Amino acid sequence: MSVMFTMPSLQKIVLLIAVLFAIWQAFKWLSRINRVRATAESAHRRATATARRQTATPIEETRKCGSCGAYVPIGASCCGKLQNRA
Ligand SMILES: [Zn+2]
Repeated sequence: MSVMFTMPSLQKIVLLIAVLFAIWQAFKWLSRINRVRATAESAHRRATATARRQTATPIEETRKCGSCGAYVPIGASCCGKLQNRA
């Protein structure tokens, strides 16, 4: 029994090295995948945030202009006169 541990066969050493090498390669591969994914995700998040900023209309209350009927933000001028806030 003790012989198995004190004198491992060459095949076992080679197998152990192969397994360790495979695990090392897998970790390298996984870390690369994670890095790529993180970069892509942060880029996507940046792009989405930028797009949202660009497309989102500011939430403003509008009121109908008494002169032309257009809806203008409260406090904005339309038809050359300032709309009432009330
Ligand atoms: Zn108007």
